Amino acid sequence: MNIILFGAPGAGKGTQSALLIEKLGMYQVSTGDLFRAAIKNKTELGIKAQSYMDKGQLVPDSVVIGMVEEVLKSGVRDFILDGFPRTVPQAEALDELLNKLSISISKAIFLEVPKQELMGRLTGRRVCKNCGAVYHIVSKPSKLEDVCDSCGGQVVQRNDDKAEVIEARLKNYDEYTSPLKDYYTKSHKFVELDGNRATEIVFSDLKKVIS
Ligand code: AMP
Repeated sequence: MNIILFGAPGAGKGTQSALLIEKLGMYQVSTGDLFRAAIKNKTELGIKAQSYMDKGQLVPDSVVIGMVEEVLKSGVRDFILDGFPRTVPQAEALDELLNKLSISISKAIFLEVPKQELMGRLTGRRVCKNCGAVYHIVSKPSKLEDVCDSCGGQVVQRNDDKAEVIEARLKNYDEYTSPLKDYYTKSHKFVELDGNRATEIVFSDLKKVIS
Protein backbone atom coordinates (compact mmCIF):
# COMPACT_ATOMS: atom_id res chain seq x y z
CA MET A 1 0.00 0.00 0.00
CA ASN A 2 1.21 3.50 -0.87
CA ILE A 3 0.28 6.45 1.32
CA ILE A 4 0.78 10.18 1.71
CA LEU A 5 1.61 11.47 5.19
CA PHE A 6 1.16 15.17 5.57
CA GLY A 7 0.86 17.86 8.22
CA ALA A 8 2.68 20.93 9.47
CA PRO A 9 6.44 20.90 10.09
CA GLY A 10 6.94 19.12 13.42
CA ALA A 11 3.67 17.16 13.20
CA GLY A 12 5.56 13.86 13.44
CA LYS A 13 5.69 12.74 9.80
CA GLY A 14 9.35 11.70 10.03
CA THR A 15 8.87 9.93 13.37
CA GLN A 16 5.84 7.97 12.17
CA SER A 17 7.56 7.16 8.86
CA ALA A 18 10.52 5.73 10.77
CA LEU A 19 8.12 3.40 12.62
CA LEU A 20 6.37 2.39 9.39
CA ILE A 21 9.76 1.46 7.96
CA GLU A 22 10.84 -0.44 11.05
CA LYS A 23 7.60 -2.26 11.83
CA LEU A 24 5.94 -2.67 8.42
CA GLY A 25 8.90 -2.56 6.04
CA MET A 26 7.55 0.40 4.14
CA TYR A 27 9.76 2.71 2.08
CA GLN A 28 9.99 6.42 2.92
CA VAL A 29 10.18 9.05 0.22
CA SER A 30 10.95 12.23 2.17
CA THR A 31 11.59 15.22 -0.06
CA GLY A 32 13.17 17.11 2.87
CA ASP A 33 15.61 14.21 3.46
CA LEU A 34 16.38 13.97 -0.26
CA PHE A 35 17.20 17.69 -0.33
CA ARG A 36 19.33 17.44 2.81
CA ALA A 37 21.28 14.53 1.27
CA ALA A 38 21.78 16.58 -1.92
CA ILE A 39 23.05 19.53 0.15
CA LYS A 40 25.45 17.25 2.05
CA ASN A 41 26.77 15.87 -1.25
CA LYS A 42 26.98 19.38 -2.72
CA THR A 43 25.10 18.39 -5.87
CA GLU A 44 23.53 20.89 -8.25
CA LEU A 45 20.11 20.03 -6.82
CA GLY A 46 21.40 20.61 -3.28
CA ILE A 47 22.87 24.01 -4.13
CA LYS A 48 19.58 25.03 -5.73
CA ALA A 49 17.46 23.79 -2.79
CA GLN A 50 19.60 25.17 0.03
CA SER A 51 18.91 28.83 -0.63
CA TYR A 52 15.16 28.18 -0.28
CA MET A 53 15.41 25.83 2.68
CA ASP A 54 17.61 28.12 4.76
CA LYS A 55 14.96 30.83 4.49
CA GLY A 56 12.10 28.48 5.28
CA GLN A 57 10.73 28.83 1.75
CA LEU A 58 9.39 26.05 -0.41
CA VAL A 59 11.65 24.75 -3.16
CA PRO A 60 9.97 25.48 -6.54
CA ASP A 61 7.38 22.89 -7.58
CA SER A 62 9.18 21.98 -10.81
CA VAL A 63 12.36 21.01 -8.92
CA VAL A 64 10.51 18.90 -6.33
CA ILE A 65 8.24 17.18 -8.83
CA GLY A 66 11.19 16.22 -11.05
CA MET A 67 12.99 14.73 -8.06
CA VAL A 68 9.97 12.69 -6.91
CA GLU A 69 9.38 11.47 -10.47
CA GLU A 70 12.91 10.02 -10.54
CA VAL A 71 12.30 8.13 -7.30
CA LEU A 72 8.89 6.74 -8.27
CA LYS A 73 10.14 5.71 -11.69
CA SER A 74 12.82 3.59 -10.00
CA GLY A 75 10.07 1.16 -9.04
CA VAL A 76 9.69 1.73 -5.27
CA ARG A 77 6.47 0.32 -3.82
CA ASP A 78 4.76 0.33 -0.41
CA PHE A 79 5.97 3.86 -0.02
CA ILE A 80 5.17 6.72 2.30
CA LEU A 81 5.31 10.16 0.70
CA ASP A 82 6.56 12.35 3.54
CA GLY A 83 6.64 16.10 2.87
CA PHE A 84 5.32 15.73 -0.66
CA PRO A 85 2.97 16.96 -2.00
CA ARG A 86 3.13 20.26 -0.15
CA THR A 87 1.11 22.41 -2.53
CA VAL A 88 -2.02 21.80 -4.61
CA PRO A 89 -0.05 22.05 -7.91
CA GLN A 90 2.30 19.36 -6.53
CA ALA A 91 -0.72 17.18 -5.69
CA GLU A 92 -2.07 17.62 -9.22
CA ALA A 93 1.32 16.78 -10.72
CA LEU A 94 1.54 13.73 -8.47
CA ASP A 95 -1.85 12.48 -9.66
CA GLU A 96 -0.67 12.78 -13.26
CA LEU A 97 2.56 11.01 -12.48
CA LEU A 98 0.82 8.17 -10.62
CA ASN A 99 -1.55 7.76 -13.53
CA LYS A 100 1.33 7.59 -15.97
CA LEU A 101 3.16 5.00 -13.86
CA SER A 102 -0.02 3.03 -12.97
CA ILE A 103 0.58 3.44 -9.25
CA SER A 104 -2.19 4.19 -6.77
CA ILE A 105 -2.24 5.97 -3.44
CA SER A 106 -4.73 4.57 -0.94
CA LYS A 107 -4.79 7.22 1.76
CA ALA A 108 -3.65 10.77 2.37
CA ILE A 109 -3.19 10.86 6.13
CA PHE A 110 -3.09 14.21 7.87
CA LEU A 111 -1.43 14.57 11.29
CA GLU A 112 -3.12 17.36 13.21
CA VAL A 113 -1.03 19.12 15.87
CA PRO A 114 -1.81 22.55 17.42
CA LYS A 115 0.54 25.41 16.50
CA GLN A 116 1.72 26.01 20.06
CA GLU A 117 2.90 22.41 20.31
CA LEU A 118 4.62 22.60 16.90
CA MET A 119 6.79 25.52 17.99
CA GLY A 120 8.06 23.59 21.04
CA ARG A 121 8.72 20.48 18.97
CA LEU A 122 10.63 22.34 16.26
CA THR A 123 12.74 24.65 18.43
CA GLY A 124 13.79 21.68 20.60
CA ARG A 125 14.41 19.26 17.73
CA ARG A 126 17.96 18.06 17.14
CA VAL A 127 19.19 15.69 14.44
CA CYS A 128 22.24 13.54 13.90
CA LYS A 129 24.35 15.01 11.12
CA ASN A 130 25.49 11.54 10.14
CA CYS A 131 22.50 9.16 10.28
CA GLY A 132 19.57 11.59 10.58
CA ALA A 133 18.28 10.17 13.92
CA VAL A 134 15.92 12.68 15.52
CA TYR A 135 16.11 13.89 19.15
CA HIS A 136 14.41 16.54 21.26
CA ILE A 137 16.21 18.47 23.99
CA VAL A 138 13.37 17.86 26.47
CA SER A 139 11.30 14.88 25.40
CA LYS A 140 14.01 12.74 23.79
CA PRO A 141 17.54 13.93 24.54
CA SER A 142 20.55 11.92 23.36
CA LYS A 143 22.30 10.08 26.22
CA LEU A 144 25.50 12.11 25.77
CA GLU A 145 25.03 15.76 24.90
CA ASP A 146 25.33 16.37 21.14
CA VAL A 147 26.34 12.76 20.45
CA CYS A 148 24.05 10.39 18.55
CA ASP A 149 23.01 7.28 20.53
CA SER A 150 22.83 5.21 17.36
CA CYS A 151 26.01 6.07 15.46
CA GLY A 152 28.09 8.46 17.62
CA GLY A 153 27.64 11.24 15.03
CA GLN A 154 27.29 14.90 15.96
CA VAL A 155 23.79 15.96 17.01
CA VAL A 156 22.90 19.45 15.80
CA GLN A 157 19.98 21.80 15.26
CA ARG A 158 18.74 21.97 11.65
CA ASN A 159 19.30 25.42 10.11
CA ASP A 160 15.61 25.66 9.38
CA ASP A 161 14.63 24.81 12.97
CA LYS A 162 15.88 28.23 14.19
CA ALA A 163 12.98 30.33 15.55
CA GLU A 164 12.97 32.96 12.79
CA VAL A 165 12.90 30.33 10.01
CA ILE A 166 10.21 28.26 11.75
CA GLU A 167 7.80 31.17 11.50
CA ALA A 168 8.26 31.33 7.74
CA ARG A 169 7.77 27.57 7.44
CA LEU A 170 4.56 27.61 9.45
CA LYS A 171 3.25 30.53 7.41
CA ASN A 172 3.99 28.63 4.19
CA TYR A 173 2.26 25.62 5.63
CA ASP A 174 -0.94 27.61 6.28
CA GLU A 175 -0.90 29.17 2.86
CA TYR A 176 0.19 26.32 0.60
CA THR A 177 -0.06 22.96 2.36
CA SER A 178 -3.21 23.32 4.41
CA PRO A 179 -5.43 23.44 1.25
CA LEU A 180 -4.38 19.85 0.55
CA LYS A 181 -6.92 18.75 3.15
CA ASP A 182 -9.73 19.82 0.82
CA TYR A 183 -7.95 18.39 -2.19
CA TYR A 184 -7.78 14.90 -0.67
CA THR A 185 -11.23 15.06 0.90
CA LYS A 186 -12.63 15.44 -2.62
CA SER A 187 -10.87 12.28 -3.75
CA HIS A 188 -12.05 10.35 -0.64
CA LYS A 189 -8.46 9.60 0.43
CA PHE A 190 -8.33 12.01 3.33
CA VAL A 191 -7.93 10.69 6.88
CA GLU A 192 -7.17 12.94 9.84
CA LEU A 193 -5.32 11.67 12.92
CA ASP A 194 -4.72 13.52 16.16
CA GLY A 195 -0.93 13.84 16.15
CA ASN A 196 -0.82 15.51 19.54
CA ARG A 197 -0.53 12.24 21.46
CA ALA A 198 2.24 9.86 22.41
CA THR A 199 4.16 8.56 19.39
CA GLU A 200 3.12 4.95 19.92
CA ILE A 201 -0.58 5.83 20.25
CA VAL A 202 -0.51 7.81 17.00
CA PHE A 203 1.31 4.90 15.37
CA SER A 204 -1.26 2.40 16.58
CA ASP A 205 -4.01 4.47 14.90
CA LEU A 206 -1.92 4.88 11.78
CA LYS A 207 -1.52 1.11 11.48
CA LYS A 208 -5.29 0.67 11.73
CA VAL A 209 -5.83 3.19 8.93
CA ILE A 210 -3.48 1.46 6.55
CA SER A 211 -4.28 -2.16 7.41
P1 AMP B 1 10.97 18.87 5.73
O1 AMP B 1 12.14 18.02 6.10
O2 AMP B 1 9.85 18.08 5.12
O3 AMP B 1 10.51 19.74 6.89
O4 AMP B 1 11.46 19.87 4.58
C1 AMP B 1 12.51 20.80 4.81
C2 AMP B 1 12.49 21.85 3.73
O5 AMP B 1 12.71 21.25 2.44
C3 AMP B 1 11.18 22.62 3.56
O6 AMP B 1 11.06 23.70 4.48
C4 AMP B 1 11.31 23.12 2.12
O7 AMP B 1 12.21 24.20 2.02
C5 AMP B 1 11.96 21.91 1.43
N1 AMP B 1 10.94 20.96 0.94
C6 AMP B 1 10.74 19.69 1.33
N2 AMP B 1 9.72 19.13 0.66
C7 AMP B 1 9.25 20.07 -0.18
C8 AMP B 1 8.19 20.11 -1.12
N3 AMP B 1 7.39 19.06 -1.34
N4 AMP B 1 8.00 21.27 -1.83
C9 AMP B 1 8.79 22.34 -1.63
N5 AMP B 1 9.80 22.38 -0.74
C10 AMP B 1 10.04 21.25 -0.02
